[in-house]
Amino acid sequence: MPYEVADRLVIGIASSALFNLADADAIFVRCGEEAYRRHQEVHLDEAFAPGVAFPFIQRLLSLNDLASADDPLIEVIILSRNDPDTGLRVMRSVAQYGLDITRAIFMQGQSPYQFMPALGMSLFLSANEDDVRKAVRQGMPAGQVLDSAYTDDDSDELRIAFDFDGVLADDESERVMQERGLQDFHRHEVTNVVTPHNPGPLRDFLAKINMIQKCEGRRRQEDANYSRRVRVSIVTARSAPAHERAVASLKAWGVTVNDAFFLGGINKDAILDILRPHIFFDDQKAHVLATALSVPSVHVPFGIVNDDAKMSELRERAAMTTSARSETAVSSEKAENELFDSSRADT
Ligand SMILES: [Mg+2]
Repeated sequence: MPYEVADRLVIGIASSALFNLADADAIFVRCGEEAYRRHQEVHLDEAFAPGVAFPFIQRLLSLNDLASADDPLIEVIILSRNDPDTGLRVMRSVAQYGLDITRAIFMQGQSPYQFMPALGMSLFLSANEDDVRKAVRQGMPAGQVLDSAYTDDDSDELRIAFDFDGVLADDESERVMQERGLQDFHRHEVTNVVTPHNPGPLRDFLAKINMIQKCEGRRRQEDANYSRRVRVSIVTARSAPAHERAVASLKAWGVTVNDAFFLGGINKDAILDILRPHIFFDDQKAHVLATALSVPSVHVPFGIVNDDAKMSELRERAAMTTSARSETAVSSEKAENELFDSSRADT
């Protein structure tokens, strides 16, 4: 019988997201491939330090105790640019940390993200920006983990936080926001409140997380002492009245979240500092650069805010509008002064 992936949450992870490869990577860059190969061989049994996505992956895999060992809910597969030889240290590190990861693809010098659909993956995490951008451009759900000074806690909870637009939903409304401003964005959301958003890159990943939460619900019914471990939050810059369409869209998609923070421009990093998710996903690089200081943060390079050419065109247009407005203001002030002077002359 083949191993079916359809009813599981399948995640692809690059070794750069799971482990801290800074030392080995520095050797590759500084001294070349042969030195890197020797370094990996010499340190084969020395586990890499945990990387940014490690707490998330470790907690996620621990939820497999909700199902039988031969039919796990969660499958994590290594997708690595290492060749099978240099990748040995990655798999030994996995074993030393007791992570239940047995499947891996090693492709020398290439990221195997193109195999994501064949593996039924709902998410690919990597520290390699280029690989992640290419995967997202091909319509795949991928995110770049950013360096973080995060320190893990010792709870067994798994807290996941998502931005809404450009992550769970597509960027239709973000386009309105960027091209026409906040007032038009709110008008657009109120007009379309009964029309659900099109799903964004991580909607299906949330649906699979909900599947695990349902298993927790069943466990809780059987065992009153069981405490739920998974908690999902939305942390978005949306605020009323635009929050209604977000809530309606979640309902229409058949997915749920435990908490929603409609922040209307309040800094997300201050909120996340307290919420302390084990992973946070956002499509805006500026947001994740700020949150990465204290929580493991993932940039999902999807939609208009990641289209550099379009964004610089919009910035130029905004600058021209501002300068046209100030010229108009100067000339109308001048006209008013002239009118005032001539009316004084009259009196
Ligand atoms: Mg967004």
